[in-house]
Amino acid sequence: MSRKPDTLAVTLGRPDGPGAPLNQPPVLASTFHYGGADYGRFGTDSHAAFETTIGALEGGTAVSFSSGMAAAAAVIEQVPVGGRVVIASTVYHGVTTLLSDLTDMGRLSRTVVDATDLDAVRAATQGASMVWIETPSNPLIEMLDVSAIAKIATAEGIPLVVDSTFATPVLMQPLALGAQIVVHSATKYIGGHSDLLMGVAITNDEATAEALVRQRSYRGAVPSGFDSFLALRGVRTLPLRLRRASASAAVIAERLAAHPAVTRVYYPGLASDPGHELAKKQMSEYGGMLSFCVASEDDAEEVLGAAELVVSATSLGGVETTGERRNRWNEGAPTGLIRLSVGIEDVDDIWADLKQALDRLPHASGG
Ligand SMILES: *Cc1c(COP(=O)(O)O)cnc(C)c1O
Repeated sequence: MSRKPDTLAVTLGRPDGPGAPLNQPPVLASTFHYGGADYGRFGTDSHAAFETTIGALEGGTAVSFSSGMAAAAAVIEQVPVGGRVVIASTVYHGVTTLLSDLTDMGRLSRTVVDATDLDAVRAATQGASMVWIETPSNPLIEMLDVSAIAKIATAEGIPLVVDSTFATPVLMQPLALGAQIVVHSATKYIGGHSDLLMGVAITNDEATAEALVRQRSYRGAVPSGFDSFLALRGVRTLPLRLRRASASAAVIAERLAAHPAVTRVYYPGLASDPGHELAKKQMSEYGGMLSFCVASEDDAEEVLGAAELVVSATSLGGVETTGERRNRWNEGAPTGLIRLSVGIEDVDDIWADLKQALDRLPHASGG
């Protein structure tokens, strides 16, 4: 009988046999006796243990990299010279920056589209080499229709790449929805403890998987044995952490929406959210990421400054709740927008901290 994902997250990627350790120990070696791995840059048992596990969860072959950006760069290298990439306007700023640098170099070109508009995606995809989307997106936690966009890419005979860092395989499996490549910053939920940098690309196309291994071998963006060990340890509890964060985010989103100092909440789990129906269709839960607005930049800074439990920090997906005023990255986000990565602390403690910070704002009603 085939096992469920929560079981696979625990059972895969382990050595077996009499006397073998239960966990794959970190392989801290560059050089090996002839006849096996040979040399660390070509991959070790530490990489394989992590890749087997995350690959099974996504339903494809996984290739790990030294960061999410290294995984993204290796995937983008699959675009032929002079090819064109269609990217959703909401993709991660690092990917946008890389594509704009590659455009400036004449390596490729890009078309930025509002990917909620399927006609715009269809038009932009004609003659393109790759479509790249990210959902739920940053920082407006916007939903894009993965299967509809996959159909458009497939009709053009080109791959759809989904950066699924916010969802993880626990909440959504883009390959099953028609995408050809999934990319994660494993630095975030997969690692889950804010203590490593890693990335992974998963594909259901064997030729692409081989090309990605080749990229990693000869560009050299190999993750360390120790980071691979930590990332796999993160995967063991990924389903538990994600579901806890997701359940807490739903509670926090409701309470924020009812607070008088909050002008807007972005969370696909709210029935009023524009992405709600789509999220219900393609995700198993709504995730731990949410954003909300207060009246101004100063108010947002005051809330973050007054928060004691909520750590002011960029990045996301750790066990600890973090928050940041996203407009500091000049992403065109509303100036009073705070993005929260809801952690696994007690939800009432998280809310009490946010509430005492929000209650200081002049806009809060006196009652
Ligand atoms: C952080 C992040 C990346 C980049 O990953 P690194 O591990 O920081 O290189 C890519 N996409 C998304 C959605 C991210 O949040």
